[in-house]
Amino acid sequence: MQDNGNAATVMLGLDGFVLLAVSCKDGEFEQAIETLDAEGMCRSCGVPARLHNRRPTWVRDLPSGGRPVTLVWVKRVWRCVESLCAASTWTETSEVIRARACLTERARAEACRRVGQDGGSVASVAREFGVGWGTVMSAVREYGEPLIADPARTSGVVALGVDETAFLAANAAHHTIFATGMVDVRGRRLLDVVPGRSGEVLSQWISAQDLVWRDRVEVAALDPFRGYASALRTSLPDAIRVLDAFHVIRLGFAAVDDVRRRIQQESTGHRGRRDDPLYAIRRVLRRGAEHLTEHAWARLLAGLDAGDVDQQIGLTWIAAQDLRRIYHSASRSEAETRLYSWFVHCADSGVPELRRLATTIDSWTEEFLAYFDTGGISNGPTEAMNLLIKKIKRVGHGFRNFDNYRLRLLLHCGLDWQTHQTTPLRGRLPRLAA
Ligand SMILES: [Zn+2]
Repeated sequence: MQDNGNAATVMLGLDGFVLLAVSCKDGEFEQAIETLDAEGMCRSCGVPARLHNRRPTWVRDLPSGGRPVTLVWVKRVWRCVESLCAASTWTETSEVIRARACLTERARAEACRRVGQDGGSVASVAREFGVGWGTVMSAVREYGEPLIADPARTSGVVALGVDETAFLAANAAHHTIFATGMVDVRGRRLLDVVPGRSGEVLSQWISAQDLVWRDRVEVAALDPFRGYASALRTSLPDAIRVLDAFHVIRLGFAAVDDVRRRIQQESTGHRGRRDDPLYAIRRVLRRGAEHLTEHAWARLLAGLDAGDVDQQIGLTWIAAQDLRRIYHSASRSEAETRLYSWFVHCADSGVPELRRLATTIDSWTEEFLAYFDTGGISNGPTEAMNLLIKKIKRVGHGFRNFDNYRLRLLLHCGLDWQTHQTTPLRGRLPRLAA
């Protein structure tokens, strides 16, 4: 019997507790437990206390074998026998099961990890643990906030990426609400998100970092948004500002889209419809030339033949592909030469969207070419981060509360979870073999 008790207590694995009994009802486990503190001392006068009563308290623990677990902690109520003592009776307490808690502390920590590291929804974790949404969310807050507030989390950044991201999509009451995300480009972690997308919010965030942190940043990758550039110029004057390649390439394809829409509108008098030749190739037009299959090439050419009457789309498409190819230059001087011919191509094209794009890039020449001085630093990781951000937003069904949104994002994209590495089963010594 003693052995059974030990085995059960090992399975329970809750510090300071032993397992008394297990029952299974309606697919749920109920485990009766008690503390190891079989003797009590009066906390007021220090004399040995007498067991006065037993009082059960119910709390959810980690699911076991896929089944929700309820612990019934049979608490001891102690009474002081010293007649002069002011203490009469008191109930024992524990660090691992807090007073009036719905979940054990280890279950709360795990709930936070499931939501944070695994990116699970609060609702699904709540269902699995058999508790309410608020119980899980408060565990995520309590366990998660210290993790993301730890200064070590954001230390040692050499290349900073800055990008805007949509926090709330537009609805009847408001326009799209944006946020600014800061990313450690080399370490591939999200450093922070702040509401707004102005240079001001970026400056404020950088100023809040300590001097050592700011001194370490050598490169800042940004999307072509003036506000960020001037904020970086003043708050991180020694960092090289690099126009992010991904955004530049996207600008090129955005110009192709703009021209396609305009030509479509001019020639058909309406917006794209499924059977319009140009509308049919809108996605093919956004792809890099080297990714096109033979079939895609044939579709692209046929679509342009049918709809691109004066070759404005074709010219813009070539410019977008060339802009992309400049990034394959072996050196800054080669990139500079290619960029110059690209400007000429845009100017000669007579396509207004393309001229506008060239003017934009021209105003960013220094930041554009800096890419080739910094060993090709790119905001690619920032972009990968944006995909993760979108995933978390989907899981959260759109956040309303910015603090919750920030917490969830940083737990998922901004943290190294030091989780226990499970030993592989194979190659283990058969410790329990008879
Ligand atoms: Zn006492």
